[in-house]
Amino acid sequence: MSTYPHNITAEYHTLGCKLNFSETSAIGRALSERGVRRAADGETPDIVVVNTCSVTETADKKGRSLIRRLAARYPQAAIVVTGCYAQLKPGEVAALPGVELVLGSGEKLKAAEYVDRFLQSRQSVMSVTPARQIATFEPSCERGDRTRWFLKVQDGCDYFCTYCTIPYARGRSRSGIIADLTDRARKAAGEGAKEIVITGVNIGEFGSNNGQSFFDLIRELDTVPGIERYRISSIEPNLLTDDIIDWVAQSRAFMPHFHIPLQSGSDRVLKLMNRRYATSLFRERVEHIRRVMPHAFIGVDVIAGARGETEQEWAEACRFIESLPVSRLHVFPYSERPGTAALHLPDPVPQAEKHRRVEQLIAISDTKLRQFLDSQHGAERPVLWEHTVHDGMMQGFTDNYVRVQAPFDAGMVNRISTLVLTPDNIVAEQ
Ligand code: SF4
Repeated sequence: MSTYPHNITAEYHTLGCKLNFSETSAIGRALSERGVRRAADGETPDIVVVNTCSVTETADKKGRSLIRRLAARYPQAAIVVTGCYAQLKPGEVAALPGVELVLGSGEKLKAAEYVDRFLQSRQSVMSVTPARQIATFEPSCERGDRTRWFLKVQDGCDYFCTYCTIPYARGRSRSGIIADLTDRARKAAGEGAKEIVITGVNIGEFGSNNGQSFFDLIRELDTVPGIERYRISSIEPNLLTDDIIDWVAQSRAFMPHFHIPLQSGSDRVLKLMNRRYATSLFRERVEHIRRVMPHAFIGVDVIAGARGETEQEWAEACRFIESLPVSRLHVFPYSERPGTAALHLPDPVPQAEKHRRVEQLIAISDTKLRQFLDSQHGAERPVLWEHTVHDGMMQGFTDNYVRVQAPFDAGMVNRISTLVLTPDNIVAEQ
């Protein structure tokens, strides 16, 4: 524990995925244990932590412009940049105004120690362990808001999909130990957690480095008293086994809510992407979920305009996606990333055509979401209510991930009650 010459304050900014949000919370917790207070609204912070993303070129751009804005707003503050952009382009990040510490993925969760040393020495540092050498796993279980917690169970990825930079930014797959992770869930329950989102990069790979398995993990987590809901943030279709699906359907606390990356509805494009399944397997998984959990919410990631995706494959992909009984699509335009194998594929899709494909998928997604929500009218579902108030109303999520609203009642925050779903209490903006 350090004692600083004066009251040090920090402000936190996160770009990107749920995993980044939970890691920023972990950095904040470690700094607060060292006496660094979170800056109040309107207060000028001494330290600004920016946890970046690099999943697309736009994500890099957002990181740069956020850092520039923060440097202009707080010219005296020391900016600490970590996350995937810092790992992949540390020199570029270090050259941005106000940046004093650049910390790679291996250093991210030691940020408090680096800040501590910086506050004593005022020496700028750029510390980035090459991704292939990152071997340690730093678990965390952090509060996202008053109702939802994020349990990080795994990091890194060995899949090397041809379009993806994550294996280069976060390193090889590694994970926590079941006993430690259930202990963290138990502690979170002690602090009032009701819902935990299980996060990681490729969480179905949990335990591949230590002889444990994702299935064992979720069965153990399900026994933690006080945690009434778990959600699996996202799981690869080839790792979402029939056993896991059947077990979730009858589990105590795992919600009927799945997020599965499809990425393309064309088998040839899936091969170009180096994905580990064919569309037939994806369909089997989704139909299995629908059979055993007809009310489940199924969200699906899709990339539009991948390199080499022909008009014909695109049409085939749209037909496949339209025929899937899923609830919503998360649509991403294909983004060229330096260092990825996809850059060597021929036939890039022109920008305007990529944009058209994105719009087409968004239209398919809107239809699917409307159909799913309509199918829920009249259903009685449990809702975990949240603390935020919009126009006198509070919001919450059903077990199957429908955002609903009711008049604000402070006594219901972080509590579960049942609600009959109607067009009036389902929130239009899901
Ligand atoms: S599974 Fe593929 S897309 Fe997902 S993180 Fe790993 S390499 Fe990237």
